[in-house]
Amino acid sequence: MNVASILKTKGSDVATAPRGATLAQVAAVLANRRIGAIVIVDGGGHVEGIVSERDIIKAIAARGAQSLGEPASEIMTRNVVTCQPGESLDDVMATMTSGRFRHVPVVENGRLAGIVSIGDAVKHHIAEVEQEADALKSYVLTG
Ligand code: AMP
Repeated sequence: MNVASILKTKGSDVATAPRGATLAQVAAVLANRRIGAIVIVDGGGHVEGIVSERDIIKAIAARGAQSLGEPASEIMTRNVVTCQPGESLDDVMATMTSGRFRHVPVVENGRLAGIVSIGDAVKHHIAEVEQEADALKSYVLTG
């Protein structure tokens, strides 16, 4: 299974914000959409950074509630690790594990084309394992 087939099921919608969005605005989007990260993009749709719920918690722990007025650019991770639609699910899961993050934006021709979260990866991985188990069972039973 690859990233493109995951996006076929879940769609290519990604929650984004400009670098000037405040942490309060970002937190409101995360809460309303029940998601864990938002991708920071420029006017042309290019990925500039990523802000996850962990970054907001860290900012609040360090500077208190006043950090909610700071712009996303202040706390976003700038070196965003991305993947391409043709990449395998196994590779994306390995990237998340080694990088210790739970979100990987999908980029195609330099533009944001979707996002894979650890929840998406685990869901599709379980489905894949179940399919393999079913195929093996029917092979054993009919063979
Ligand atoms: P997460 O586990 O996705 O909530 O993110 C944990 C930390 O990794 C936060 O500091 C994020 O800004 C950062 N992060 C999340 N996704 C990525 C990514 N794809 N590339 C680089 N850093 C990331």
